[in-house]
Amino acid sequence: MPTRASDLLTLTREGLYCPLGGFHVDPTWPVERALITHGHADHARAGHGHVLATPETLRIMAVRYGEEFCRQRQEARLGEALRIGDVTVRYAPAGHVLGSAQIAIERDGVRVVVSGDYKRAPDPTCLPFEVVPCDVFITEATFGLPVFTHPDTRDEVRKLMASVALFPERAHIVGAYALGKAQRVMALLREEGWDRPIHLHGAMEKLTELYKREGIPLGDTPKVVAADRKDLHGAIVICPPSAMQDLWSRKFPDPVTCFASGWMRVRARARQKGVELPLVISDHSDWPDLCRTIRDTGAGEVWVTHGQEDALVHWCGTQGIKAKPLHMLGYGDDGEAEPAPADAAEPEVAA
Ligand SMILES: [Zn+2]
Ligand SMILES: [Zn+2]
Repeated sequence: MPTRASDLLTLTREGLYCPLGGFHVDPTWPVERALITHGHADHARAGHGHVLATPETLRIMAVRYGEEFCRQRQEARLGEALRIGDVTVRYAPAGHVLGSAQIAIERDGVRVVVSGDYKRAPDPTCLPFEVVPCDVFITEATFGLPVFTHPDTRDEVRKLMASVALFPERAHIVGAYALGKAQRVMALLREEGWDRPIHLHGAMEKLTELYKREGIPLGDTPKVVAADRKDLHGAIVICPPSAMQDLWSRKFPDPVTCFASGWMRVRARARQKGVELPLVISDHSDWPDLCRTIRDTGAGEVWVTHGQEDALVHWCGTQGIKAKPLHMLGYGDDGEAEPAPADAAEPEVAA
């Protein structure tokens, strides 16, 4: 009997499952055998038996969860064909964060690609997205509405630097996710010629050190020490989004709150979060890139995992591409809800 896409991938309580290979992809519950696309907490969880992922993703998981994050780990080399059960598996870069990959699952000439999270925009901290032609393409739709078009990130970073030049007495506190976004903002600042230190909240430290060890030049990134905060005039400080509204951020000199996120395209969201300087920098594809990518893969069928599924499913229909939403729970927001590691929290003394 010829192989059908549903033999290669199906949806179970734990997430996407390959019956012929006996493994899950980015399961949201602990499973025996997991293939992981990238290190964000909603995709890479601790407690699996066997984990296959890129070397960078495995190292990210070890930093976040400790060396014991699974029983057994295996490195997936990009482009290398691996036989698992009755299928062949191949990892390809996804352009999302360091180590992020798409996973192609294949048998008898039928190929399904799980893209995880991905973007097409340039990112100095990771390999660019690679188009993998396939029959079924599994995509996210975080920004799956035509209103979402991301601007050039260089302009956003220049906005930040212009604001520092305009307000040299004020500290600029940039909220950014600890994995990927924070390091991308640092790398973009370096590309634009910012050669002063970039100050880090303690929660950013371990992953930023990991990026540096992986060969991403981020320059001088000292950790903010509580006593020094009041002296950081004109400094750029990067912290987790959760710290932006904290007492922690208010101890800086007349802070300008900035937030680096694709959601900053929505003015109301920026206002609601009290963000003075919104920076539209996203690690996900915008609407035109979602559509372009689906077309580029040549897939006859698209499954949409999470985000704004309906509009993308509808668009596929207008292009003669079969599509369905998977309404997957447990994905999204790249760890916004993730608590900062306990060792990174600085005690706040009530005044
Ligand atoms: Zn992600
Ligand atoms: Zn995600």
